[in-house]
Amino acid sequence: MSLFQDGVLILNQQGTLCFADPNARQILEMPEGDLDPDFISHSAESAFRELVERAQSENNTQEHEFVTEHLSANKNLSILAEPYQLVENGTTGWLVIVRDITSVRRLEGIEKEFITNVSHELRTPLTSIKMAAESLRMGAIESPKFKERFLSNIQREADRLTRLVNELLVISNLEDAKTTLHLSNFDLAGLIDDVMSTMEPHARVNDIELVGEFPDLLPTMYADRDRVLQVLINLVDNAIKCNRPNGTVTLKVELQEANIHVQVVDTGIGIPDIDLPRIFNRFFRVDKSRSRVTGGTGLGLSIVKDIIEAHQGQIDVESTLNVGTTFHIHLPVKVTIEEEDHSS
Ligand code: ADP
Repeated sequence: MSLFQDGVLILNQQGTLCFADPNARQILEMPEGDLDPDFISHSAESAFRELVERAQSENNTQEHEFVTEHLSANKNLSILAEPYQLVENGTTGWLVIVRDITSVRRLEGIEKEFITNVSHELRTPLTSIKMAAESLRMGAIESPKFKERFLSNIQREADRLTRLVNELLVISNLEDAKTTLHLSNFDLAGLIDDVMSTMEPHARVNDIELVGEFPDLLPTMYADRDRVLQVLINLVDNAIKCNRPNGTVTLKVELQEANIHVQVVDTGIGIPDIDLPRIFNRFFRVDKSRSRVTGGTGLGLSIVKDIIEAHQGQIDVESTLNVGTTFHIHLPVKVTIEEEDHSS
C-alpha cells in the first residue's frame, strides 16, 4: 500500500472546477454528486484557496504544504497548481494535484522521536562510563573501595548498553516480521515447561512462588517457538521483578477453540491507571529511577507486543495498584501468515 494518495482537479481559464477524480474528491471530502463549479472560492481551507488563486493571478506554478483545519481530520496536504493546456478549446486552465501526505509526516514524527529516544538512552550509560573512567584516572583507582565501585558501575552500564543494542536489533528484525518469523510445529507443553524451569531459580532467589496452571492436554502449536518463549520469559521476568517478597506469579494457559489464552498474573506493585495506556510504548518506564537500578530499557513490553502482533495475536493488561497485574495473551494455535504479493 502506498503511503500517500494523489488526487487531480482541473479548472478552466476562469477558475471553474471542471473535473475532480475520485481521490481528489475523497481527500478534499467533496460531497457526492455534481461538482461545485466554485469549489475553490468556496473552500474553507484558506491555504488551499490562496495557493490556487495565486497560481492563477501570477500565471505560474505554485506549490505548498499545509495542514487542513476544516476537514474531518487534520490532514497534511501537499498541493501543486500549474498552468495546463486544455485539450478541448486550447485555452490555458489549471491542473491541481492534491497529495495527502499525512501518513508520511506521521511516520517521520515517529522516526524522529525514536532516534531522539535512542540517542538519549545511549548517552546516559555512556556518560556514566566516561565519568567512572575519569574518576579512576584521577586517583580513585588507588582506593580499593572506590576502585571497586567505579569498575562495577562501568560493568553495569556496559551491560545495559549491550542489552539496549540487542533489543534495538530485535526491533529492527521484527519490522520485517514476515521474513523473520521462523514458524514450526512444537509442543506447547514443552514450551511451558521450558519457561517454568528457566524462571524457577530466578523466582526462588527473589522469594517469589512461581505457579503453573494448565490443562493436562496442550496442543501442538505452529508459531515461532523462540519468539513465543521470549515473550513468556519477558512477562514472567517482569512479574517477578515487579512483585513483593513472598508474592506469587502464576502462568495460566487455557485452550479456547483455535486460540490459546495465556495469563501472567502477579501479586506485585501494580501499574498506575494513568500509565496503563503507555505501557507498550517504546522506552516507556513506569518509574525511571527504579528502572535505572534494575537496568530496564523500557523496550521489553514493546518487543513483546510486536512479537504477539506478528503472530496475529493480541496482548492486553489489567492492573490494580499495590494488588497486582495480569497480562493476557491470545495467540492462534496455528499461525497463518499471508505472504505479500511481490508480483507487481
Ligand atoms: P523494562 O525493560 O524497563 O522492564 P518493559 O517494557 O518490560 O521495560 O516494561 C515497561 C514498564 O512497565 C517498566 O517500567 C516496568 O516496571 C513496568 N512493568 C512491566 N511489567 C510489570 C508488572 N508485571 N507489574 C508492574 N509493572 C510492570
